[in-house]
Amino acid sequence: KDFRNKVKPNWCPGCGDFSVLAAMQRAFANIGLEPEDVAIVSGIGCSGRISGYVNAYGFHGVHGRALPIAQGLKLANRDLTVVAAGGDGDGFAIGMGHTIHAIRRNVNITYIVMDNQVYGLTKGQTSPRSQIGFKTKSTPNGSIESAISPMEMALTVGAGFVAQSVSSDLKQLTHVIEEGINHQGFSLINVYSPCVTYNKINTYDWFKENLVNLNDVEGYDSSDRGMAMKTLMENNGLVTGIIYQNKESQSYESLIKGFKEEPLAKQDLQISKDQFDKLVAEFM
Ligand code: SF4
Ligand code: MG
Repeated sequence: KDFRNKVKPNWCPGCGDFSVLAAMQRAFANIGLEPEDVAIVSGIGCSGRISGYVNAYGFHGVHGRALPIAQGLKLANRDLTVVAAGGDGDGFAIGMGHTIHAIRRNVNITYIVMDNQVYGLTKGQTSPRSQIGFKTKSTPNGSIESAISPMEMALTVGAGFVAQSVSSDLKQLTHVIEEGINHQGFSLINVYSPCVTYNKINTYDWFKENLVNLNDVEGYDSSDRGMAMKTLMENNGLVTGIIYQNKESQSYESLIKGFKEEPLAKQDLQISKDQFDKLVAEFM
């Protein structure tokens, strides 16, 4: 079960996205999946290239639209493990509407955001995750907009699985991806994935100094939503690990009345050839 393929990533040396790729490949193998069981749908951005670097089905979507595609895939074929992936600009700016509604809809897919707090592909502009004061070409005097807090946002819209990790901790990153895939419902995993080229503030060293691993927080209980929110707010969102999980979560598809066991993609077309031809003719 080798999820590596022969395509050489064209990310900058040291880019955090390399670890996310490795963790994803390890998580699939650890769970015992086969390449034909997995589909990766990505958005646009440096991180969006990830769907081409895994030996599995890949779909490089359009900007901010990985989630509609991923949800459609999962609903048509529930046998697939569907992972959506993209950057903080993709998911929390242009794609934010989809992100919020996908969380509350709770289709059983995993969404991995590679959060570098900047737009990397377009050469370093302020993103919705950039902190106030962050200087880029688009904000030469420093950003004057407040940054989105994706973990808190997810909790307020009813998320069943919310986790965060960092590219420098491959072990934890692999673990949270595995748990996210095993979770029955929508899983949001935000990964601090440093952009070594355009973000000179939120570096590997910066995260090392500022992140709090939830394993080190005494008495932390990831089934307690209130505690999750309080801990996030007290630490300015800078925590890693499984922040919140509702183990009783029921996926959207499992709640659809009359939904057939067999995935749509594998069902016979229940119309005759004549009916089918007639239907096609209507659209010609
Ligand atoms: Fe990674 Fe930044 Fe380079 Fe893009 S520009 S590949 S995010 S280091
Ligand atoms: Mg980004």
